[in-house]
This record gives sequence, C-alpha cells and structure tokens, in this order.
Amino acid sequence: MNSYEVVIIGAGHNGLVCGAYLAKAGLKVCVLERRSLIGGASVTEEIWPGYRVSTAAHMMGLLQPRVILDLELQKFGYEIIPTPPIVHHIDSAGPIPVWREPDKLAAEFARLSQRDAAAYPAFAAHLARLGPIFQKLLWEIPFDPSSLSPGNLMDVALFAWRNRGMVGAFYDVSDLITMSVYDYLSRWFESDAVKMILGYYPVGGSGQSVSFHTPGTAYFLLRNHLRDNTTAAGGTGLVRGGMGNICEAIAKSGARFGMEVRVDAEVSRILVKDGRAQGVVLVNGDEIRARTVISNASARHTFLSLVEEGTLPCEFLRDIRSFKGQSTAFKIHLAVDELPHYPDLGKAGLGNTYPVQICIAPSIAYVEKAYLDMREGRVSRRPYLTVQAPTVVDPSLAPKSRHILSIYGGHVPSGPGADHGAATRETVYNAAFDAIAQFAPNLPRHAVHRQILLASDYEEIFGLPGGNPHHADLTLNQVFFRRPARRYADYRSPIAGLFLSSASTHPGGAVTGVPGYNAARVVLKMLRSPA
Ligand SMILES: Cc1cc2nc3c(=O)[nH]c(=O)nc-3n(C[C@H](O)[C@H](O)[C@H](O)COP(=O)(O)OP(=O)(O)OC[C@H]3O[C@@H](n4cnc5c(N)ncnc54)[C@H](O)[C@@H]3O)c2cc1C
Repeated sequence: MNSYEVVIIGAGHNGLVCGAYLAKAGLKVCVLERRSLIGGASVTEEIWPGYRVSTAAHMMGLLQPRVILDLELQKFGYEIIPTPPIVHHIDSAGPIPVWREPDKLAAEFARLSQRDAAAYPAFAAHLARLGPIFQKLLWEIPFDPSSLSPGNLMDVALFAWRNRGMVGAFYDVSDLITMSVYDYLSRWFESDAVKMILGYYPVGGSGQSVSFHTPGTAYFLLRNHLRDNTTAAGGTGLVRGGMGNICEAIAKSGARFGMEVRVDAEVSRILVKDGRAQGVVLVNGDEIRARTVISNASARHTFLSLVEEGTLPCEFLRDIRSFKGQSTAFKIHLAVDELPHYPDLGKAGLGNTYPVQICIAPSIAYVEKAYLDMREGRVSRRPYLTVQAPTVVDPSLAPKSRHILSIYGGHVPSGPGADHGAATRETVYNAAFDAIAQFAPNLPRHAVHRQILLASDYEEIFGLPGGNPHHADLTLNQVFFRRPARRYADYRSPIAGLFLSSASTHPGGAVTGVPGYNAARVVLKMLRSPA
C-alpha cells in the first residue's frame, strides 16, 4: 500500500505523537523512519550485547500529561521510575542533594548562606507563579505578528485574551526571557554556590552552548514548572526500559487506530506539484503518495535537503539557513562492573540511597572555564558533567551485576573544521574520567565497554543539525513566532500540504510531545475547513 492521507517523515517522538492523534481522528497515517529503530533522540539502543542505553535523551522531565493521558501511554508500557534528588558536588560544601521540596532545599542552602536559605522559598514560589503562564504558552499556535490581515488580527486578539494572565506578570516574564541566568539569580541570592546549583540546568543541562552570563538563559530556570506533576499521568523520572519506551508506547497507541510505522525508510525527496505536497520518494526509489506530508525531521534537513531547489521563497530559505545552534555537549556511555563510590556522599544525608544522578559542576568558575576553553578552541580538561546510573533503579537495562553510566557534559569545540577524531575522543574521555575520579576514585579507567558521542555523531546518526538537542538554539530570536522562520511558525510551510512537527517548531526540544500535538491540531483544522 503506497497511498495514505498523511505521511510523516521521521519517527521521533513528535512525529509519532502527531501521527497517533491524526490516526485517532480517523486519518490513514504512515510514519517513515530512516533508522532501523524508532524514537529519534528519545531512543533505547542495545549498543553492547545485553546493555540497553538511552543514547540521547536520558531523563523524562517534560513529557506532557495531556499527551500521556490522551494516548493512554500507560496502557502500552510507559512507566516512570521516580528517582531520588540529584546530588550536586560543590567545591566549598561537598555533595548537596537538590531536593524538589523548597523547604528541604532551603535547609541545604543554609550551609552555604543563611541569607540565601531565607530567600529561596520566595524564589521558588515566584517561579511556581510564573510556571502556569509558560505552560499555557506551550499549547499556543504561534501567529504572525507582522500581518494585519483580519484573520490574523483575530488570532492575535484571541491569543491576548487567552493569555491575559501574562499582563500582570509582564515585567517578570520579560526579565526571565531576556536576562542571563547569573544576573537573574543575583537578584535573589548572594552565594555563587547557590547560583551554581540553581543555574546548572540552564547552563549545563539544557544542551545549549551558553555561559552563566549569556542573555536569555534565565527562562530555563522554569523547567521544573513547565509540567503538572499532580495528574494521573504521574511525575517525572527515569523511563523503565529507557527513553525508547516512550516512543514504543506512542507507536502502539497509534497502531490501534491504524497508524503504520516503517523503519529503514529514508525519505530522499518531498514530491511537490503546482505548489502542493503530493507525497514522498524514498531512498530506495519507492514513491508514497499522500495529500498531507508532515516532517518530523529538522527544519534544516526538510527544507534544504528534501525539497527541490527553486521551490521555496528566498526569504524563507534565508531564515532556515540562519536557524542556528551548534552544540558543544557530549555524551559518554560506560558499562562498568562497579558503581562509582563517592566517599563524601555520606555527608549528603541520603542514607543508603544511591543517587541516580550526580552533577559535577563544583563552582561557577569551573563551568565558566569549560565554556572559555571551548570558545578558545580547546577541549575542556575540566568538563561539567551529569553522571547518571540508570541501572540502580532499572537493573533490566544491563546484565546481572553490571551497570550503565550515562554521562552528559560539556564542552568540546564543534562545527565546521572541528577535529572529532580518535585523539580528541580520547582527550574528552580522559577529561571526563579525571573529573569523576576526583569524587569517586574507584571508577576503573578501563570500563567493560565505552561509547563517546560528540556533536558530529548526533548530527550524523540522529540527524540533529549541529548535534543540537533542540534542532536549533532556543534563543529569543528563534522561539515562538520566529521558530523556525518568520511567517511560518504555525507548523505550516510555504508549500501547501507540507507541515513541520519537530523540535524545530514551537516550543522546541526536549521530550514534551507538544510540537507533535500542536501540528496535529493545525493539520486537522486545515483538513476539516471548507476548501
Ligand atoms: C544528547 C542529548 C541528550 C538529551 N537529553 C534529554 C533529556 O534528558 N530529556 C529530554 O526531555 N530531552 C533530552 N534531549 C532532547 C530531546 O531528545 C529532543 O529534543 C527530542 O527527542 C526531539 O524530538 P523530535 O521528535 O522533535 O525530533 P527527533 O528526535 O530529532 O526525530 C526526528 C526523526 O526524523 C528522522 N529522520 C530525519 N530525516 C529523515 C528522513 N529523510 N527520512 C526519514 N526519517 C528521517 C530521524 O532519524 C529521527 O528519528 C536530549 C537530546 C540529546 C541529543
């Protein structure tokens, strides 16, 4: 069968979410994936016999409850294992558990600054107040602010009305989206150690090549407030069986409505006739017809490689070409027969609980040095790291008595001309190893197995432009009505019948399901409106 109502290019989680909603609405949908397995950057791969590793995303923090509940993912094997608090190693104070409960975290901060401990509950409440405003924005279809057409003006008016809650918080919202994480935190806190702990995700965890002083990074502080953890969809944590199980569950949910998924099915070209998408051609020459084509691939790949030259307007192509985001983060996966033993951990007050995630980012100066090394073209000798040990809570991922370490860190110079050869990889590995060994001297330098993935690998294997986890940076000039291009942030493209559903669209990357959900709404509205 080579004719469908909808064909989706890419079985990343957003493509699958989009397909499952459209199949549920009664459309005949086929999802085509170029790799031999589904999931895109939310995947579990058996990279060594018996070891199943989440080779890109490794923690579920943002998959939206609406998507989990609508698609009934829990029925199809999706399960979250709650994890103990992250433990953050700080130079001046040793290991600090980053409790989710504000009063418990404030008590930890008292070891660093009494003043900051007193300020923290009000700061947490402040972010909790702003969170729902941003949560609402996730589900908006961005409009074109430059158009005075009556339909668009109506969209703007309705947007303003739905989001009128933002008016009272306008100055707080604008500070969050424009300020650097350092300046924002400095308004509340005096201790650099406290700022390091609170600013770790914006600077080290978000996968962006930024420093504490990069403007526009403060809004990543809201991450923990972008998801309602109190619904029947449950909270956040590790996905049992690895991140790929999210996508397996979405695919199974879609399959009961007839959604087909084909792997090893790379699209080489989108068929366009008279300005309308007509289907796709696969690398093996097969043609698949569809009146709607949705690309879950990156905007860059979709419009610069899959659409014939001369088909798209110059202004649009200019925007897509300048849609920026070179990642300098890396991941190292290790199979070990012994977990790192952190002798200082006893001081963290976690009892016998082994922390599933440890952050090695002992000071702002340390993280800034890693950033400066990268800017000056050097692999950082002291990278910041998140060391995750998923097998502590999910032993099914590795053979008996063996563990997986999934290490995410930065920085490695990347992009055109960067050397990602064997010697660079060895340097990255040794630097990460030395950084961990400072805190856990038992870590054996020769792991049972190891894999080192740099930005160029994420580009080549996963199709992420510049290796960027978000497909492109989430800077102010590349979000909402500028993502991925002016006038086309509403999941449409200049080609009729061709849509985008990936992290290249609003609200960007992370495993949220939101771009896929929003794109499905736009497509359904278009298909149901009178011609
Ligand atoms: C190292 C790393 C760590 C991360 N950590 C986390 C984390 O812990 N938590 C979190 O929430 N997020 C994390 N992320 C981000 C998150 O994984 C991504 O933002 C998200 O998975 C993007 O999903 P997507 O469906 O939009 O796109 P993708 O996952 O990029 O999917 C696109 C799909 O399209 C396919 N494709 C491309 N071209 C073609 C073609 N021509 N034909 C057919 N198929 C094609 C690709 O193979 C891919 O499967 C991380 C990302 C990386 C890289």
